[in-house]
Amino acid sequence: MTELETLRHSCAHVLAEAILRLWPEAQFAAGPPVEQGFYYDVDLPHRISPEDFAKIEAEMQKIIAADQPFERNVVSRAAAMELGRAGQLAALGERGVPSRYKLDILENIAEGEEISLYRNGAFTDLCAGPHVASTGQIGAFALTAVASAYYKGDESNPQLQRIYGIAFAAPEELAKWREMMEEARKRDHRKLGKELQLFHVDEAVGAGLILWTPKGAVVRQELQNFISEELRRQGYEQVFTPHIGRLELFRTSGHYPYYADSQYPPLVERETLHRLAEEGCTCADLAHRLEKGEAEGYLLKPMNCPMHIKIFASQPRSYRDLPVRLAEFGTVYRWEQSGELNGMTRVRGFTQDDAHLFVTEDQMGAEIQGCLDLVKKVFRAFDMQDYRVRLGLREPGSDKYVGQAEDWDRAEEACRQAARTLGVPYSEEPGEAAFYGPKIDFVVRDVIGREWQLGTVQVDFQLPERFDLHYTGADNKPHRPVMIHRAPFGSMERFVGLLIEHFAGAFPVWLAPEQARVLPVSEKVADYAQEVAAELRKAGVRVGVDTSQDKLGAKIRLAQVEKVPYMIVVGGKEAESRQVSVRSRKAGDEGAHPIESFVERIKTEISERVL
Ligand SMILES: [Zn+2]
Ligand SMILES: [Zn+2]
Repeated sequence: MTELETLRHSCAHVLAEAILRLWPEAQFAAGPPVEQGFYYDVDLPHRISPEDFAKIEAEMQKIIAADQPFERNVVSRAAAMELGRAGQLAALGERGVPSRYKLDILENIAEGEEISLYRNGAFTDLCAGPHVASTGQIGAFALTAVASAYYKGDESNPQLQRIYGIAFAAPEELAKWREMMEEARKRDHRKLGKELQLFHVDEAVGAGLILWTPKGAVVRQELQNFISEELRRQGYEQVFTPHIGRLELFRTSGHYPYYADSQYPPLVERETLHRLAEEGCTCADLAHRLEKGEAEGYLLKPMNCPMHIKIFASQPRSYRDLPVRLAEFGTVYRWEQSGELNGMTRVRGFTQDDAHLFVTEDQMGAEIQGCLDLVKKVFRAFDMQDYRVRLGLREPGSDKYVGQAEDWDRAEEACRQAARTLGVPYSEEPGEAAFYGPKIDFVVRDVIGREWQLGTVQVDFQLPERFDLHYTGADNKPHRPVMIHRAPFGSMERFVGLLIEHFAGAFPVWLAPEQARVLPVSEKVADYAQEVAAELRKAGVRVGVDTSQDKLGAKIRLAQVEKVPYMIVVGGKEAESRQVSVRSRKAGDEGAHPIESFVERIKTEISERVL
């Protein structure tokens, strides 16, 4: 835990103590720190609502003012069980009922592991720690939300109330955080996405499935064009693959059944269903047979890799053909819990900016470097200069990894070298590699200081084995290629969600769904307005005309609300002189210009992707 996490987790203890003072029957489960603060899961007949927060916070304030020291006590399992049965874990003292969740947590602590209790004031909790020295070190805090959560995230377990809070060492930090949250609320892509008609989620289609409406589709298409241009420059080849594939394919890759819980269930072939029905097969039998490979079916693809692998393997490859770089904006499907879904950033169907590189070991370094160059270029294009990378390396001494140690050394060194050249901070995280290879993750900080985990570049020694891939080397013998998976921006959904918030919906001209809007001051100049729009359209500009009867002021306001980068005001004077009055979102009124010069200017801004 970081220092801040320790402070926040300590505040969770304070929260529990305060709740117990108000509702002595409360039962607590887990209370860890999270990215945005901390929470504690509580089982309580009273439904806690934000109206209760002031009351709970007042109690917490008293506990902090009392500056209760946190005392650590190591106890035997038997002693801890005894306390749990007496209801004394996560409690203020003895109670008539056992501390049922704590008892369960206790039972899941591995044999031989130390069991520690922490006490502050009258409150004792089963906890591994660490905590701050005393409650007084919590300088500022606030309760932020309450949600429901199943115990251990399992729907068959009881539903608990998850109370979220935030804490800092100093009040100024909390004030700054509140400001940031207010800004984040204004920029929320779910809110802006609706207002600006960028995307839609419809119950009838399904939760977590994004409908890209025309305006959002423009943003995505422009973004894909931009990334594709860069990929072509780097020698990638575009491919397309279907959304479903046979279960057998994903059995070979290992995606099924190992990750079955995070996937949509398989689709079963009609004949198989008939046959099994005749045999009187139950649903449980069916699931079992699918898993065992005794019944065939299809899977909505959770990953694009196996299909790209089949394209690679579709013809003999020589070392002269490598690297083979196959790119696809490939749509994949994952089963996220409904409580985890969030706008465009946590969804069930998404399109990865995916690519797979099949390379020789010697080519690995340069290819990883290429992936990072692309990331750098794209981030620069959006003025996201504040990002960092995490290197996931293998855990020293562990034997859970596939592949040769020398290959790993080489791959890790290649990742390290590539990360170094980025000129941004990077951290090495031993133990964070996948079992099949090291990886590089990207974390970008947006304009209001929030971090977004984007995509990854990942070296893979395993899939080439599982699919028995090879190429013919210079020695005329078969060799195993190394695979690199890379989806640096994660998915189009997530990236566009981030961009909406980053730009607060005010996209740069090249991305804006409507790049310019012609505003005729009266009906008399309606024809001229259409003429101007036609000129712009001819130049490839996405242009609209406000033909409403509204006053000019109202038209300008609407265009501003809709975040159109350029407003082109035309009246009698402009019509006569073949000019347009330009109002830009950035500079305001820019005066009258000949049509041609404005067309040239906006064309340049678009092609150069000016911010
Ligand atoms: Zn604790
Ligand atoms: Zn992949």
